[in-house]
Formats: sequence, structure tokens, C-alpha cells
Amino acid sequence: MRQLSKSKIIAFRQCPKRLWLELHRPELRDDSGSEMVFAIGNQVGDVARQIYDTADDGRLIDVAEIGWDAAFSETAAWLSGTPAPLFEAAIRIEGALALADVMLPEAGDGGLRWHMLEVKSSTGVKDYHREDLAVQTYIATAAGIDLASASLAHVDNSFVYPGGGDYQGLLTAVDLTEEARSMAGDVANWISEAQEVAALTVEPEIETGPHCSAPFDCPFRHHCDQNMPSIEFPLGSLHRVGPKKRDELEALGYDDLREVPDEMLSPVNRMIKKQSVAGEAWFDAEGAATDLAPHTGTSYFLDCETIGFGVPIWKGTRPYQQLPFQFSLHIVSHDGEVEHREFLDLSGEDPGEAFAQALIDHCGTTGPVFVYNAGFENGVMRGLADRFPHLATGLLSIVDRVVDLLPIARNRYYHPSQHGSWSIKAVLPALCPELSYDVLDGVKDGHAAQRAFLEAMAPETAPKRKQKIERELLEYCKLDTLAMVRIWEVFSGQRDLV
Ligand code: SF4
Repeated sequence: MRQLSKSKIIAFRQCPKRLWLELHRPELRDDSGSEMVFAIGNQVGDVARQIYDTADDGRLIDVAEIGWDAAFSETAAWLSGTPAPLFEAAIRIEGALALADVMLPEAGDGGLRWHMLEVKSSTGVKDYHREDLAVQTYIATAAGIDLASASLAHVDNSFVYPGGGDYQGLLTAVDLTEEARSMAGDVANWISEAQEVAALTVEPEIETGPHCSAPFDCPFRHHCDQNMPSIEFPLGSLHRVGPKKRDELEALGYDDLREVPDEMLSPVNRMIKKQSVAGEAWFDAEGAATDLAPHTGTSYFLDCETIGFGVPIWKGTRPYQQLPFQFSLHIVSHDGEVEHREFLDLSGEDPGEAFAQALIDHCGTTGPVFVYNAGFENGVMRGLADRFPHLATGLLSIVDRVVDLLPIARNRYYHPSQHGSWSIKAVLPALCPELSYDVLDGVKDGHAAQRAFLEAMAPETAPKRKQKIERELLEYCKLDTLAMVRIWEVFSGQRDLV
């Protein structure tokens, strides 16, 4: 019998085929895009050791350094007699193993007992965390560890980092002991069912569906999709149609949104269907021009890039708070002259105040400030106003001038190539094919911008690499605001729709 790790058992819970592929075809995994999630998880894990080892007498079991056999024996020895915290405790039973993030001693009359904590980088308890803790609790209990309690520790997003490396208060623990214990029978079944799947000699036949992206994006999606018939307008291209409704439509035999009867679709999805059937764009030019008519004078086009740290690194900031590090600003005067301004700070120091000051300096005092998705840029500027009260008046006066191009695009324009999305990257190629994110080198979307920012601010990044990243980030953000200028020109009637 194989020894299945907790993560393999959780993979089985998502999809038996995923478990089989993890074990038998691991080379098919595609982990691109998940590095950031892992990095945040590691940072939270590191900080947990500081938080739960205040006396600095704990021990980390480092499997990579000492190997599995030593990890199991040293964990067992520690838990049987050392009343101090243990991190990454390696525990095994027949058929399963787990690494417990934190084990805290609880001395009592009956001898040494343990409080087990699973540390998560999320800001609350999710359903799959409950299963995760139940598996952990089952393995620890079956291994003979005297568990006093089992909790899930997650990030408290109201925590404000006071600086100086002090993270007390970053994590909040939720006691789930009874719930975890009550699931013991289920966990035993999951382990034995997972063992049956692991022993299969051929890949199980399971179709893709909503389970492929919940609770995690499955890293085998590409493999499972490759033999699927390609659908030109899949149901996923419907606007704001969740997995439940998609399942309902699929159960009725609809794969392509063009097959779905009109009466089952919202007005916007009827329009999407109509244009997809016709294969042509819909544009309410008069309506778009009317929407933009009140916004005259010098026009500003603003886009911000932000980063959120699970473990805040800048004093006065909260976990996952969106902190701006870059903006691009195109300025179009009333006579059509175009200027460009930009800000980017890759120093690794808190860029907030300099960003806010530069924004105030470049945005003038009158004229519309066009953005694409006002909730985001307004949130950035309001967050800066809270953090830097002496700049609040200037920032909030820019917020007052913000005009959102997104609802205008959503209400006035659609091309079938958008596939149900009005993101600027979906609208731009249809509206202005001469501008394309494909020509960019390296950074082509917001997530890539965040990854590039993290790499550039890391002290070990070589200066040459940092310069390349700087160029890529500047080019990327500049294209975002140039795209807004072009969209605005078409919508306001200054440029013909091609
Ligand atoms: S992509 Fe979907 S069907 Fe394929 S292994 Fe992953 S979860 Fe299972």
C-alpha cells in the first residue's frame, strides 16, 4: 500500500483522476501561475513559527534536510516528551502521512498533550480547510498523538503591521476540534477509496466540469482538455453565469451558447448569443457618444498596478491590501495633443507616498480622469488617502473626477471575440486591432506585472534583470492607458470603428 500524503488525499477529494495523474503522470502537471500562491503560503508559514514560538525553544522538522525517516522518528521523539512547539511535524500511519504546520504543547494533569494548528494564508475558513484539518486530525490521532485540540489559523485581514518584524496578531485561530473529530469515519473512507484509485493501472475516465476549478484550479486541466471537442462559444462565454447555471444548461444538452433558447438567457446574454450567431460586433455609437459628451476638457487616462502581501512588509499596511507601485497616465489636451506620464518604484521601499504625490502632481485639477473599472482605481486612491492624510485632499479630488469607461463599454459595445468579457484586454483587440498586448515582451497582464514587481524588488535580482523588468512593466502599463485613449476616441466618435 502506498503512503498517501494529506495533499494527495485532498487531491483525491477534488477528483480521483487528479490523484491518479499526480501519482502516475506527474510530468503532465502545469503549475504556471500558482507560484505566487505558494510563495504567500510559505511566507505565512515562516511567520507562524515566529508567532507560535515566542520563547524561541521550538524546532522545525525540515524533511528536505534530514529525510523522511529521520523526520518521522524525530517528530515522534519530540512529541513524546518535549514540551515545546514543533513545526512541520511529520506523522504517518499505514497508508497516509501528513506534515502538521504547528504542534503546541499543552501540559496538564494527564501529561503532555498537543494543540495542532493548520496555518492557511486565506483570510477565513473555507470548506476545504475543514476537510484538510479532518484528515490531519485523523492521521495524528491514529498515530497515537494525544491531541487536546485542532485549529485552523488564518490571516486576520484587519491586522495592521506595526513594523519592526512584529507579526503578533497576524493570524487568528479557529477551534475546529469537534468538527474534525466527527469526520473521522469519512476520512477513513477517503483514504481507502484513494488507495483504490492509486492502485489503478489505467487513468480513470472522468470528464471535466466545475470540479476542475473548485476548490483549486487543477494543474492537469490542459491534459484533460486536449481530447475534448473544441467549442467555438462555450457556455463559459456567457456573462455572469455561474457553475450551477452552467451545469443546468449542460444537463439539458447545451454546450455552445448559441444553442441555448433565448428565454433561458438574461438580456445581456441574449445580445451575446445574437452577436455570436451573427459573427459581428454590436455598437451603439450614438449612446456611447452621449455617455461621454458631458466629460470635456483635458482628459486624463489612468491605470494603476498594485501588489497585495499576505504578510505585510510595509509599516501601516494590512494583509492583502492592494498597494500601488506603478501608474501610467496619458493626457489628451482639448486640441488633441497627447502626453504621457508614469511612475514606477522597484526599490523595495514603500512606494505609497511618492506614488500619491506623483499622481497629484500629474493629474492637474480639472478635466475627466478616465479609468477602466473605477472601483479599483478609486479604492487605490482612497487607500492612499487613509494612509497619507496630508495628501488626502489632492487624492480625493482626483477620485471626484473619475469617469469609468467600463460600464460604457459594457452597455454600448460587444464583439463575439470578447467571449463574454469586457476586460480591457478582451475589448481592445476587437475595437483597435492595431494595438495588441501580444507584441509586449514579458509582462502582458496584471498577474505577470505583480510577479515581475516581486522579482525586481528582491535583493538577489541582478541589476540587468531588474532593468529589463522595469522596461517591461513600463511598456505594459503604458499600453493599458493608450488602449483607454483609443477606446475613448472610438466611443466619442473621434475615431472610426474598423
Ligand atoms: S482537469 Fe478536471 S477531470 Fe481532469 S484531473 Fe483535473 S479535476 Fe479531474
